[in-house]
Amino acid sequence: MGNVVAIVGRPNVGKSTLFNRLTESRDAIVDSVAGVTRDRHYGKAEWLNVEFGLIDTGGYTHNTDDIFESEIRKQVNLAIEEANIILFLVDVNSGITDFDEAIANLLRKSKKKVFVVANKVDTYDRIADIHEFYKFGLGEVYPISSSNGSQTGDLLDALIAAF
Ligand code: GDP
Ligand code: MG
Repeated sequence: MGNVVAIVGRPNVGKSTLFNRLTESRDAIVDSVAGVTRDRHYGKAEWLNVEFGLIDTGGYTHNTDDIFESEIRKQVNLAIEEANIILFLVDVNSGITDFDEAIANLLRKSKKKVFVVANKVDTYDRIADIHEFYKFGLGEVYPISSSNGSQTGDLLDALIAAF
């Protein structure tokens, strides 16, 4: 298969919202392998006639508070194995958390291409708040709103240029 892109990030940053926006849900294949750490969704996405596979990680069924960091580490390591490009989603409303730092450390050690994506930038006045995410040292930070679609086109332009 061609390019496979995985969306990683701690719970509630908006991974599934982005996945649903980028895939045609009718074509999305829900993986039937059970279990918290292996639960992931596979879909197909397309931008400017370029198709790619998309993985949504961390379909947890429990509350955020019950999720252990080790579960997220497993998800991230699986994503690193399965995908050739990683979208590292963070939340502009909460800023950098310890979970984000832990994920950034794993991604930095991997040889994979990583796009830092600051989600929930629903309005342009929030753009200035994305600057703290440059502290990860993972390169450019792409602001988007998964819920209203703002600037997702710019992210996709950069993504397919990296294939
Ligand atoms: P996941 O746990 O990372 O898969 O996150 P979800 O996609 O389930 O989203 C978590 C919450 O954030 C939900 O209430 C979403 O509606 C909300 N959310 C997702 N994307 C955005 C966004 O771009 N802007 C805002 N304001 N809320 C969002
Ligand atoms: Mg989700």
